[in-house]
Amino acid sequence: MRFELLQPKNLSEALEMKKAYGERAKVLAGGTDLLVLLKDRKLKAEAVMSLRRLRELNFIRVEDGKGVRLGALVTHGDAAASPIIQGRFPDLAEACSQVGAVQIQNLATVGGNLCNASPAADAAPPLLLTDALLTLASATGERAVPIQDFFLGPRQTVLRADEILKDIFIPEVPGRRGATYLKLGRRQAMEIAIVGVGVAIHLNGSDQQIADCRIAMGSVAPIPLRARRGEQVLRSQTIKDELIEEAAEVAAEEASPISDVRGSRSYRLDMIRVLCRRAAREALARAQRKKQEGSK
Ligand SMILES: Cc1cc2nc3c(=O)[nH]c(=O)nc-3n(C[C@H](O)[C@H](O)[C@H](O)COP(=O)(O)OP(=O)(O)OC[C@H]3O[C@@H](n4cnc5c(N)ncnc54)[C@H](O)[C@@H]3O)c2cc1C
Repeated sequence: MRFELLQPKNLSEALEMKKAYGERAKVLAGGTDLLVLLKDRKLKAEAVMSLRRLRELNFIRVEDGKGVRLGALVTHGDAAASPIIQGRFPDLAEACSQVGAVQIQNLATVGGNLCNASPAADAAPPLLLTDALLTLASATGERAVPIQDFFLGPRQTVLRADEILKDIFIPEVPGRRGATYLKLGRRQAMEIAIVGVGVAIHLNGSDQQIADCRIAMGSVAPIPLRARRGEQVLRSQTIKDELIEEAAEVAAEEASPISDVRGSRSYRLDMIRVLCRRAAREALARAQRKKQEGSK
């Protein structure tokens, strides 16, 4: 494995290098996906551009009244341990804390997880639940891409050859929102998801009245995806156990999982139903624990 190592000192230098090299230079963040691919000769690179010196892409910031912004180089470990993420987006903290094991979490970045575009990327479902916006930067400017438009297929995204993922913006979600991410793997650590399901529930007024519901799934299709028909079953409804069952059933119909070494298609479909039901109940309980505005 021989390549030229590019080490830009800041973002503008990195963007100029990416403009000059395009596809010939692969971006390296934590390297936990990229180096494995290069070592196994599944990917060739004339040059590798390390982002490690770009401190400006390593931050978690609250933007008052608007939301939370994460630099692309925030590691899963830092995201999982962040009081900002734990408090506002516990499902994202849960997902990041289940990536690999501690060694991987200390190196691997949330940005790399998205740009690698694995259908099993654990950070993707929680970010899909929030309509996160990804800032893609090039030497000529920036564009904000909704996460649901970012993935094109396994290892394929809308990133152009001259672009870098700069940051991830998660819009503030007002009101009583409860969310969780559940992952099924064969072991408790160092395991890619067989199925991952995130559910967010927003309550409206009473503890039993759902204003909005979101369901996102990983490892069930070529890209991480929202189960929009499943969500519709619960949206604007008074909560009933049968509706949760139905939403899980419909979510499984929206998936198109494959059979592979980690699990068969039919096992995955069963597990979507199970995880969806469990996640919906947990998300609901979390939302109910949040006090209504004005009440003690
Ligand atoms: C032992 C092991 C266990 C793992 N377990 C899990 C798991 O449980 N769940 C899971 O989801 N993943 C898992 N992974 C995969 C990997 O750790 C994650 O996907 C990780 O988040 C990748 O981040 P990284 O910073 O290491 O990315 P890198 O390997 O540096 O990059 C990944 C890809 O994204 C591109 N890229 C990275 N950052 C940017 C950027 N800012 N702009 C443009 N392109 C960029 C790179 O060019 C490359 O194509 C595991 C990997 C290993 C080796």
